[in-house]
Amino acid sequence: GVSVTEPSGERVKVVVRVRPPQGEETGGGCDVERSGRRLKLHRGTATQPFSEFDFDQVLDESAAQADVYNAAVKPIVEDVMAGYNGTIMAYGQTGAGKTFTLSSIQPDAIGMMPRAAAEVFNAVAADPLHEYAVFMSYIQIYMELIQDLLQPQNENMQIREGANGVFVEGVHETEVRSTEDCLRLLQMGDRNRVFAFTKLNAHSSRSHAIVMLTVIKRQRLADPDWPDAEALPVQRMKIGKLFLVDLAGSERLKKSRSTGLRATEARSINLSLTTLGMCINARADPTRPHVPFRDSKLTRLLQEALGGNAKTSLVIAVANAKEHVDESLQSLQFGSRAMHV
Ligand code: ADP
Ligand code: MG
Repeated sequence: GVSVTEPSGERVKVVVRVRPPQGEETGGGCDVERSGRRLKLHRGTATQPFSEFDFDQVLDESAAQADVYNAAVKPIVEDVMAGYNGTIMAYGQTGAGKTFTLSSIQPDAIGMMPRAAAEVFNAVAADPLHEYAVFMSYIQIYMELIQDLLQPQNENMQIREGANGVFVEGVHETEVRSTEDCLRLLQMGDRNRVFAFTKLNAHSSRSHAIVMLTVIKRQRLADPDWPDAEALPVQRMKIGKLFLVDLAGSERLKKSRSTGLRATEARSINLSLTTLGMCINARADPTRPHVPFRDSKLTRLLQEALGGNAKTSLVIAVANAKEHVDESLQSLQFGSRAMHV
């Protein structure tokens, strides 16, 4: 409907995460102020920053996954449990830490998706007054085609709008009852994703990967302990949707490689990330006459989350490495535009 895409007047929350240098990288370039809100960029051996930015929160390379969760995810999961939509997006160049942040399953560094799932199931277990059903789907958008990563033979799915909002027609929704269920599906989807890209001789960093958790909540009418919780009538359904979006790498493609498939990939990534930026920036500006949700599949699918009064966190991933200062600058500018609308 129309109402869901009205600007909320509330901008997205922008959290920057700086990852430590890896391997051969020369550490440095990103300085996080003690306030945890300002980041300064340096080039080479210069002590003077050439650029600085303010964000809702800046997490330096010592930050734990739990810090990212508390800053960018926790309030959104709480909203979803209450029946609202929420979105967490990770933006940045390939290698900057998007996937690590969103979906790491390293035991000492569990990412946002498993943490969000755990919080959902904890909340379900702690709430005797409602009954819940939780569903997960997992898709990717590559060159403006939507593929179901849980049913990969479906590789050109269409977005529709119905009474309950925007949805991917025919998307496979699997009921999940535990964090482990979610992780199994995540890994299955990731395997399908790698396989699809291997067939194409392409790289998965060129697609947007989107996990959707749908929480359906029904209130029990009476005291759940009397006479028999299972037999009680239920009513008043609430549906909350959580989108976790691992965006395609934001890096600019080198001119020499920009031919054929790579050039088409680059154009569609550029289109969707540019459109995403415009939609994010329009969100807080009610005077904006036209928001270009329909210009890309990504923004069309996320239009309720981006335009409605649903919470959205944008995690900007950057590497604290001198080699990457120019790409970091570009990513921080994207985040900064979302701050100053
Ligand atoms: P992206 O998804 O943005 O391409 P990845 O999440 O795959 O980047 O990260 C690239 C590499 O850096 C991976 O080996 C990952 O484990 C590592 N990495 C990313 N962020 C961190 C971090 N905060 N701490 C430690 N290692 C990290
Ligand atoms: Mg990745």
